[in-house]
Parts: sequence; structure tokens; C-alpha cells
Amino acid sequence: MLRRIEADVRPQIGAGQVAAYIPALSCVDPNRFGMAIADLDGKVYGVGDWRQPFSTQSITKVFALALALAQGGDDLWERVGREPSGNPFNSLVQLEYENGIPRNPFINAGALVVTDRLQTLTGDASSELLEFLRQESGNPDVTFDPEVAASESDHGDRNAALAHFMASYGNIANPIPALLDHYFWQCSIEMNCADLALATRFLARHGLRADGTRLLPRRLAKQINAVMLTCGTYDAAGEFAYRVGLPGKSGVGGGIVAVVPGVCTVCVWSPGLDPQGNSVAGIAALDRFTTLTGLSVF
Ligand code: GLU
Repeated sequence: MLRRIEADVRPQIGAGQVAAYIPALSCVDPNRFGMAIADLDGKVYGVGDWRQPFSTQSITKVFALALALAQGGDDLWERVGREPSGNPFNSLVQLEYENGIPRNPFINAGALVVTDRLQTLTGDASSELLEFLRQESGNPDVTFDPEVAASESDHGDRNAALAHFMASYGNIANPIPALLDHYFWQCSIEMNCADLALATRFLARHGLRADGTRLLPRRLAKQINAVMLTCGTYDAAGEFAYRVGLPGKSGVGGGIVAVVPGVCTVCVWSPGLDPQGNSVAGIAALDRFTTLTGLSVF
């Protein structure tokens, strides 16, 4: 079935624009395509470039959110909302109207609050996240990409502005330079489709980690899936729900993870992005996946 999906979306592989906001991402070959499915027991099926590491970027926001909720509980929701923003991921404008409380944890402002919370809880947010991803994927080689992290930092004025603006409302607890470093390191983590499908499995397993221990109560796993469905694909979450019908989270590296609760996880990667920042071939592949299998939450 994966081979069939790859053949069906082939005309769209290479379509769209590779992210160009930092130099380190702009040199990726737009014609790459990989897809992997992990079942609940951790068996992985893949096609194409599914073993090729890529920049996970905003996909890491899901894992940071899960760790912050697992370790700090629901208090986080006093500092960040759960509504779609209807604005680009790095928009400043809504923050002023809404008194420094970001709309959701998946726009950059919300993700900065989540990383801030994780930093307070752990003292080393990005290392904690990396260790979690290594454990859940079973791949000790998952690592940061220092070149991408440095590039994020060199071009990080807007994220710095978001953090300072929220700090002026008392919604950032840690020193901003350190917070931004952790956020940029977080965004730079490189993984392949198999790693990401495996690492996302706790959301398909209602909160259970790879080793069988519980990361999150079932309720929180459901809630994270719900926020992914409504807010996980920038301001195209409505279109994603319409076409794919699954909780999903995309990143500007061209990756998307999606969850079929109680069944499996899927990760697809192709670097060409649509104007909203989502992988063109990636969304097409997930659309085919749910159409061919009938596996969706609807
Ligand atoms: N590192 C990116 C930024 O903060 C994340 C972009 C994304 O994948 O949405 O600008």
C-alpha cells in the first residue's frame, strides 16, 4: 500500500517551495519523499527515503507539549490556549490583543511558552526532549543539527520578539537568551520517518511509552491529539482535517506526523511546502493513506 501511495503522489513530489527562512534548510533536495507507518507494537513499514534524517522543526512542538504536560500537569493551560490561531505560525499581532497568551501550543509563541515551562520543570529542556526522542524511537543516534540551530539563532529576531513580548506580560519565566537557545536546539533535531513514527506512538497508545510505562493519562493523550487536529498544521488545519481526517503536526522541514488513535502512527517527509508551510506531497500522501485504508477519526 505504501508503494501505491508513493506512485499516486509522484506527480506532486518536488512541488511547492523548500523552506528558505534559514539558509541551512534551503539546500535540501525538493525531490525527496519518504513515508513510514509504525503499528502499536513498534513494527515499522516504510517506502522511499524513510530512513533519511531531516529537520523535524515544528514537529518537536508535540513532544515538548507532551513532556510539559506529563511533568507539570494542566497548569500549562493558564499560559497558552487551545484554539486555532487563523494566523501564520510566527505572527505577533494576535498576542497583543490577547494579553500575551498565545492561542495554542503549536504556533511559535505557544511553543516558546511550552519550552519555557519544560525548562522550569527540568532545567534543560532541549536535552530532556532529545533523550525522550531517542528512547521512544529506539535510535540513540537521533541528534541536534548544530548548523540548523545556529542558523535559527542567526535569523531568530522574530522568535526573540515573541518571547520578549510575552515576557512583558509576565508569561515567560526563564531568561530569554537561554529559552531561545533551547527552542532553536529543539527545532534543529534531525530524525527520519521511522524514528518519528515510533516516537509519536504514545499518542496512538493512549499515553503509553515504548517501554510500556505511562507518559500521560489517557485523557491528556486524547487532548493532545485534539489540539493536533485543530491546530497542528499552521493555519491550514481545517483543510488538513478535511483532506486527511487525522490529528497531525507538520514542520517546515517538510515532515508531517499523523496519529490513528488505537491503531498506528504515520510519518511522511517531502520538503516542498505549500504557502501555509505544509508539505505538498506529504499532505497528498496522508490524504491517499486515509482514503485507501479508511483509517481516520471520522
Ligand atoms: N524553527 C522554526 C521557527 O521557529 C519552526 C518553524 C516550523 O517548523 O514551523 O521559525
